[in-house]
Amino acid sequence: MPKSYVNEARRRVGPKRARIRPVIERLATDHADATIALRFANELELLVSVMLSAQTTDVNVNRVTERLFQKYRRPEDYLAVPQEELERDIFATGFYRQKARSLRGTMQMLVDEFGGVVPRTLEELVRLPGVARKTANVVAAELGMPQGIVVDTHVRRLSQRLGFTRQEDPVKIERDLVKLVPRDDWGRFPHLLIWHGRRVCIARRPLCEDCVVNDLCPASRV
Ligand code: SF4
Repeated sequence: MPKSYVNEARRRVGPKRARIRPVIERLATDHADATIALRFANELELLVSVMLSAQTTDVNVNRVTERLFQKYRRPEDYLAVPQEELERDIFATGFYRQKARSLRGTMQMLVDEFGGVVPRTLEELVRLPGVARKTANVVAAELGMPQGIVVDTHVRRLSQRLGFTRQEDPVKIERDLVKLVPRDDWGRFPHLLIWHGRRVCIARRPLCEDCVVNDLCPASRV
């Protein structure tokens, strides 16, 4: 799109600081059911689910964890079986060798350093083997202590379309978003963008005519 159109669109919708609250409020009304799609019953299951969700769908993870969590209830349970057995149990989530290694490393550290309890700070979470910043952000947010904003493919695309960031790199996008999004909304903001991205602002064919924020979006096609 020519630069002049982009600049004109940005002028039309106004500054992002003025748009962020109405965008959040309208998306929250439109996607009142927007929450994490992974199923878990406690902090350990949350951590495991998020770790397994890399490179696969939440539906797929839920299918695997339904059985997994009956067999593995404590960090020690993941260490009590041979690595190959754990690999078989998580096989359907893909990248099962790497994921099994990360799970066992994480469980070992939970036992050795955290008294078997999932830590709550981002600094501690990213020390767990195989837990990157995005995973740590998801876990911290679900534990009610968001310390950053989760940036996945939907959050990235929608933040760019809505003119909240011009960055491509997830870390830089997160840096822009934490300056813009009110702290109280750090937890729910990614869920709202993810659900809006799945239902309306679809990657290839955004349904701008049905979008509740189309008057606040510089990328709107209506
Ligand atoms: S107006 Fe279109 S591009 Fe903008 S957020 Fe809505 S669906 Fe996405």
